[in-house]
Amino acid sequence: MSQRPLILVSNDDGIDAPGLEALAQAMEALGEVRIVAPERQQSAVGHAITMQHPLRAYPHRRQGRVFGTAVTGTPADCVKLALAELLERPPALVVSGINHGSNTSTNVLYSGTVSAAAEGALYGIPSIAFSLCHPDWEADLSAARLVAEHIARKVLERGLPEGVLLNVNIPPLPFEEIRGIRITRQAQARWIEEFDSRTDPLGRTYYWLTGTFVNFDEREDTDEAAVAAGYVSITPIHYDLTAYSVLKELRTWPWSL
Ligand code: MN
Repeated sequence: MSQRPLILVSNDDGIDAPGLEALAQAMEALGEVRIVAPERQQSAVGHAITMQHPLRAYPHRRQGRVFGTAVTGTPADCVKLALAELLERPPALVVSGINHGSNTSTNVLYSGTVSAAAEGALYGIPSIAFSLCHPDWEADLSAARLVAEHIARKVLERGLPEGVLLNVNIPPLPFEEIRGIRITRQAQARWIEEFDSRTDPLGRTYYWLTGTFVNFDEREDTDEAAVAAGYVSITPIHYDLTAYSVLKELRTWPWSL
């Protein structure tokens, strides 16, 4: 008798986030779901892992029933711990999200959502990060849920190349209004950051990161352009950061010590 595929579900918004529940529900149609997620909000922690103190993992309940395992760490910790210690067998798929907010362009670097999926890819498991391009926790997740199920089903059928994960951004539209799927690259966009500087009650200055996201990229083949035009954006990404285009040139420099 063949087993249903095991699917690991994690996120960075924390185990109570509505997006995580929606993603877990979407995956129920495709396999056996295991949820391992941070006990608290971990957005923008990137690929951080915990090394200076122990990790705890405990059952998390929703409405009296065990919903998943909460971990006192980061998204990457969750996936690492699940793969090494918590799951009874290797999963066929790792999915992360559905993040409350977009993860396009350079935001991929800071994203805990993407990092959870990247951790799966580092272990050689097909992995997908899902983000709904709307920051509100009350946003309607029904279309994103259908999109996640559709894309995850394709990946389970076809697999992914070694070390490559999919970063999926979903426009905040009703399902009937989503125009389709585009395969994209990361836009050349970034945050123009400013710090809001204030004074605490003891007269000391403190800073709070704020800023504006600016897209410098006018071409149509980007994640930003796809979402703006009402398409689901799928960007294949990988974590080999080597700049291959520069290797040859750099080797011609007179490096001798
Ligand atoms: Mn998040």
